[in-house]
Amino acid sequence: IAGKRVLVTGGAGFIGSHLVDALAETNDVRVLDDLSTGRRGNLPSTATLIRGDLCDPRALDEAMDGVDVVFHEAANASVTRSVDDPVGSHRVNTAGTLGLFERAREEDARVVVASSTAIYGDPTTIPVTEAEPTTPVSPYGVEKLTGDHYARLYHDLYGLETVALRYFNVYGPRQAGGEYSGVITTFLEQACAGQDITVEGDGSQVRDFVHVEDVVQANLLAATTDRVGEAYNVGTGRSVSILDLAELIRDLSGSRSDIVHVGARAGDVQASRADITKARDHLSFEPTVSLREGLGGLVRRP
Ligand code: NAD
Repeated sequence: IAGKRVLVTGGAGFIGSHLVDALAETNDVRVLDDLSTGRRGNLPSTATLIRGDLCDPRALDEAMDGVDVVFHEAANASVTRSVDDPVGSHRVNTAGTLGLFERAREEDARVVVASSTAIYGDPTTIPVTEAEPTTPVSPYGVEKLTGDHYARLYHDLYGLETVALRYFNVYGPRQAGGEYSGVITTFLEQACAGQDITVEGDGSQVRDFVHVEDVVQANLLAATTDRVGEAYNVGTGRSVSILDLAELIRDLSGSRSDIVHVGARAGDVQASRADITKARDHLSFEPTVSLREGLGGLVRRP
């Protein structure tokens, strides 16, 4: 897209900042971010940062004024934090998202919202289509499911142009480590420091890791599609076990770290892999970065 007034909420964060990079040269880009996990240094100088809370009506009002397209990335993006503080997480992820849709209605702005594979919980059918029953296993999953529903509802009820993108496990530069969605960052840090690589449980869990550049492409396609009011899986359609991932990262980084098993995480999802047929058919989405290439770009060999 070009020549648009664009808002990226959470634009100083991992995924949001890559979106800003892709948009800032050809659009007027604003970022609303409270810098709770995001960093100012992630932003190019061409983007305007409004430092504020999504849930603060004045900050939201300033950010939304006159926008054509909103990419809604701001959230508590941590499952663990939502388990520790469901009320605080709900405030941002659910109430904050509803407030944004409501303000978008006044502007008649298109909204592309970051949904998540977490809405499916522990899926019964692999690969997971958009028709999979939604049974989240965390407060985060419930919150993301609500945002996903509001996207569809605001289209059906008010005619707003909305698209929900259900990201699978996103990885790439600038991703924070620590929590589970950041398993790649954690393994890379451990491998590069020569520490044990810690696999939770037996490592047979499988995940569909999608590179942030492909997630950016999905967002750009969603910004112009006429297939609105819909939700789309954004993954690669491929998956890897956590144990294979640990070995791949160790090999690519030339590390001599041991791979060790630690206690399984309560409520861990066993298998996740996206069926991306719908995004392919409706959005012409096609992931381009293989896991090996993507990891290769992140590895700093000792
Ligand atoms: P992130 O934490 O790097 O980005 C979130 C950004 O939102 C941060 O910059 C943070 O400072 C900002 N933010 C948080 N609360 C805010 C508030 N109240 N007001 C204003 N800004 C606020 O996380 P990310 O991985 O880039 O996630 C981006 C989006 O993608 C989130 O909505 C997340 O739920 C979703 N998602 C991420 C993944 C993944 O694998 N990383 C998977 C599925 C969905």
